[in-house]
Amino acid sequence: MNFNKLKFGDTIGIIGGGQLGKMMAQSAQKMGFKVICLDPNPDSPCKPVAHEFITAAYDDEKALHELGEKSDVITYEFENISAEQLNRLTQQFNIPQGYQAIQLLQDRLTEKQTLEQAGSKIVPFLSIKSEKDLNDAIHTLGYPFIVKTRFGGYDGKGQVLVKDETALQEARALITNQECVAEQYLDISLEVSLTVTIGNHKQITYFPLQENEHRNQILFKTIVPARTDKEQEARNEVNKIIDQVHFVGTFTVEFFIDKSNHLYVNEIAPRPHNSGHYSIEACDYSQFDTHILAVTGQKLPEQIEILKPAVMMNLLGRDLDLLEEQFSSHPEWHVHIYGKSERKPDRKMGHMTILTNDLNETEKDMLKQFEGRE
Ligand code: ADP
Ligand code: MG
Repeated sequence: MNFNKLKFGDTIGIIGGGQLGKMMAQSAQKMGFKVICLDPNPDSPCKPVAHEFITAAYDDEKALHELGEKSDVITYEFENISAEQLNRLTQQFNIPQGYQAIQLLQDRLTEKQTLEQAGSKIVPFLSIKSEKDLNDAIHTLGYPFIVKTRFGGYDGKGQVLVKDETALQEARALITNQECVAEQYLDISLEVSLTVTIGNHKQITYFPLQENEHRNQILFKTIVPARTDKEQEARNEVNKIIDQVHFVGTFTVEFFIDKSNHLYVNEIAPRPHNSGHYSIEACDYSQFDTHILAVTGQKLPEQIEILKPAVMMNLLGRDLDLLEEQFSSHPEWHVHIYGKSERKPDRKMGHMTILTNDLNETEKDMLKQFEGRE
């Protein structure tokens, strides 16, 4: 496939104005592109950095059309947009990412089926539409298992961990409202992720393997390079997946490693990802830079160089409460604050990246900083 090649001064339309949209816009602007962003929230993080902003719902056909008319290429910062609408837009406007990745990956069930087709190793799962399916899960998967909504979940939202019978009530409540999947709960020794960008003529660039720790199912920290020997295996998994799904731009595959050192694909985010934020300071190109290069039809760097090992810590509302006063005395904390209007304990308000020659020592220091955290 050959994409339209954008020139300096051309305009990139971004659907979604959260922190990912903001950081995409910042990369686009340093390369000389204009940005127009569409988001229902007029206080979106991306608004102050976009040249133009359309306040409209993600499914507002007229507004999406306006975005298309004003843009030389359209991209998106999150997966919960309508695949059908995106498909319609692709008939009229330049959208090299297409709609297939969104369609397959915004639904956990079709995502898992796609991964099975690709031959990826995944955790055993079942589709859950009824009480009977839930009972089947108890027998087929056994306790503990996790019930997840098929659509719209993020940061562990829409998930219930069923350890034993007592948690079944909560799972029942979840499945009465929405179709779900249930998956076996894995005894994880490490979580890792691989961020990849695909450009024109299927050029592919890999970021270094990322080691992730989640707390309450929200990403807490990322360490790069990951302290495991699974990088090549993770790349092999990604290569299988890209044979099944049309990807353009930056996306991330999340993996689990179990106690026997087996690698499982967890899920795929068809967009820049929280675990790739370290790349802004720690690599010669960030995940946002390569995304913009890809969707504007430029050549990608053959390889991403890691300039220094890094620890990235997310800053939720609770973390800002804890650390805010200390930022001024820590210039080594590369702090990014997204500019969200309301601070909530579990809301991602920003992140910070620390470059280091001694990962283990820096990790220890950072964990101490976050010690008082609930
Ligand atoms: P989200 O879309 O919210 O990121 P995930 O499926 O990635 O949803 O779940 C969030 C986190 O919850 C994972 O990163 C992992 O820490 C934990 N988790 C999810 N599924 C499982 C599982 N099957 N076994 C063990 N832990 C899990
Ligand atoms: Mg996840």
